[in-house]
Amino acid sequence: MAEAFKGYQGRALAILKSFNVRVWSEVKIESSRGGFSGILLPRSESDDDKHIVLKLASGYNVGIAVETIQNIEEHGYKEAHYKIPEKEFPFTEGRPSVKLFGTGGTIASRLDYRTGAVIPAFSPGELYGAVPELADICNLSTEKLFAVFSENMGPEQYKTLAIAIGEEIKKGIDGVVIGHGTDTMHHTASALAFMIQNPPVPIVMVGSQRSSDRPSSDAALNLIHATKTAAESDIAEVMVCMYGPTSDKYGLLHRGTRVRKMHSSYRSTFRTVGDIPLAVVDKKGFKMLKDDYNRRRQDRSVKILPYFEEKVALVYYYPNMQPDIIDALVDNGYRGIVIAGTGLGHVNKPVYPAIERATAKGVAIYMTVQTLWGFVHMFVYDTGRDLMQKGIVPTENMLPEVAYTKLGWALGQTDDLEKVRELMLTPIRDDITEREPYNGYLVFQGGLDEVEEFIKKHHK
Ligand code: ASP
Repeated sequence: MAEAFKGYQGRALAILKSFNVRVWSEVKIESSRGGFSGILLPRSESDDDKHIVLKLASGYNVGIAVETIQNIEEHGYKEAHYKIPEKEFPFTEGRPSVKLFGTGGTIASRLDYRTGAVIPAFSPGELYGAVPELADICNLSTEKLFAVFSENMGPEQYKTLAIAIGEEIKKGIDGVVIGHGTDTMHHTASALAFMIQNPPVPIVMVGSQRSSDRPSSDAALNLIHATKTAAESDIAEVMVCMYGPTSDKYGLLHRGTRVRKMHSSYRSTFRTVGDIPLAVVDKKGFKMLKDDYNRRRQDRSVKILPYFEEKVALVYYYPNMQPDIIDALVDNGYRGIVIAGTGLGHVNKPVYPAIERATAKGVAIYMTVQTLWGFVHMFVYDTGRDLMQKGIVPTENMLPEVAYTKLGWALGQTDDLEKVRELMLTPIRDDITEREPYNGYLVFQGGLDEVEEFIKKHHK
């Protein structure tokens, strides 16, 4: 009996009993807030007794307040088995070897049937059980480094990842895949692009916007594309491999220093900013869009620079920002500040004295633009010139998050601000580019039917 009402108690339990419905049944609910149809999910004992939880056809879970419920009707029953069967990954002679590092995020998630919540879970056997196509591509080995949602990734995790990847490269791996939450994947991608220099093999970050228990999940396709890229592609760089257009047609490979998550829920959320993506990938192969990239090599040499100063901040300027924001960072021992300024790279006049005080104390301050596309130009207006005199260094067209990870990485290696400046302004892998091509602007990169034309030219 308990199983039929798993996790429900008090008022929530009473209402299920009064309408004679069990967990995992398909129900229609009438409430004072409107009608809902979905599967009644179990709850965990620690949850409140004020809501019942439904999984809607869209895949989202909703909690419905008990006191709003007028009627519940059961019209089917569907016990879900979200446990993915584990199978041993087969070894096939002659296939490339790929290492998959798990860090967490939605791609490593499945539904927790106790609570109806999506939780991080990862095991190599589960992965193969869920996506058997991976065995046609490579010999896969896996390692769970972390199991966190990506807002919890940071300097320590970047360093651990860089070192682990360096070791795999030295041992002879043909390619690396990193499963990662999408929210901060672009931060990690740029940090790794700085920490792992001139790798001989592809290093491919992948995630998913929708967990694998949802019909529209992008998890399996993204994983297949990423694994194929790691195993077979010629691009030996840190990349992000994610859903291309709004359909299942292809994935895009984005350079780790020029990529950004641009939509909170679309599967086609990652876009190359200020440039075009490196390549298109589908189950059959690759179509290169750019030809200046680091080629795959047979040697095992790679430079791992796992440094990161934690006392670096990224400040998003807003009108009426007060100087105490900058003062507070300096007083708290911050050694570097990246500002995402307005337009060509501006902040208001009241902030100037704080910037002067900060640079006089040896804090490294760099300017980026919150427009994301285009270059910082601090010579155009007097305001920009004043700011540069106060010691702010413009960072060309480096993305704000990339400037943040690069400054953390640079200050992690040296106290010499001249050396930091040299590191910041010397492009490592297109973190700064000479110019931005016209088709590097957002609207030309697919994801919407009316702008698919650009991609179609390259992908027939
Ligand atoms: N919150 C999740 C994360 O970034 C979302 C995802 O994986 O897509 O870890």
